[in-house]
Amino acid sequence: MDNNFEHFMLANGEKLQLFLFIAIFFITWNIENLAGVILHYKKWKHAFINAPFIFTNIPGQLILGMAFAKTIAWTSSQEFGFLYFLNFGGSTILLFIIAFIFLDFGEYVYHVIMHKVKRLWVFHLVHHSDDIVDISTTLREHPGENIIRLSFTLFWVFISGVPFWILILRQIIQTFSTLFAHMNLRLPEYLDRIVGLILITPNLHQVHHHHKQPYTDCNYGDVLSIWDRLFGTLKKLPAEDLIFGIDTHIMKAACVSFKSLFKIPFRKLN
Ligand SMILES: [Zn+2]
Ligand SMILES: [Zn+2]
Repeated sequence: MDNNFEHFMLANGEKLQLFLFIAIFFITWNIENLAGVILHYKKWKHAFINAPFIFTNIPGQLILGMAFAKTIAWTSSQEFGFLYFLNFGGSTILLFIIAFIFLDFGEYVYHVIMHKVKRLWVFHLVHHSDDIVDISTTLREHPGENIIRLSFTLFWVFISGVPFWILILRQIIQTFSTLFAHMNLRLPEYLDRIVGLILITPNLHQVHHHHKQPYTDCNYGDVLSIWDRLFGTLKKLPAEDLIFGIDTHIMKAACVSFKSLFKIPFRKLN
């Protein structure tokens, strides 16, 4: 990789990531205003319930951010991690592709675990409790889940020896993908069939947000949909059959405000 690019990512990667998140959020928010498919709700009110999670996630992001920097400094100084043992013939493109695919698989595994382990599901449930899926649903991540997710990523980074610039570049692509997947819009069927062969589309992620099983436990993919195809967890549902939210463990009253959402993981499951 071009040394200049690597240095630029080291110095500015996190700022660039934040800037792009805000810019893409703004753009996708406005695209939704023009092409949104769910219209019968108060978009600003919905966003105000989800937005405070930006702030509650800052401490975890900062602490884990330092852990990422320290871990990658160590793995690169020791050349530790399986990526160092594979021979890519000096090709950084190949290194990026393999590292990207590995981290994406890691996100798939993490997501399946969040659904299958009850003590972890209660944190992820906060994201699934949204009965409208739009761009602000992306923000609805409990700080408990945020820390668990970043800790998983830290573990994948540690065992693979992913360089910092790849991690940042992947997170930028992930930002695009996550915002895209949560948009309040539908791709036309023919386009969804093509794009969905490789990527998680809004049509696919909306099935993941359907309130009933087995649909909640499908389409776990983060950026790539290939893992769901490979492990048989890919499902489709027509738009008219979709109902967002969750039909178990949760009462409507738990979802009316940020405060009540925050308490969901600590409530007794019924
Ligand atoms: Zn999920
Ligand atoms: Zn989601």
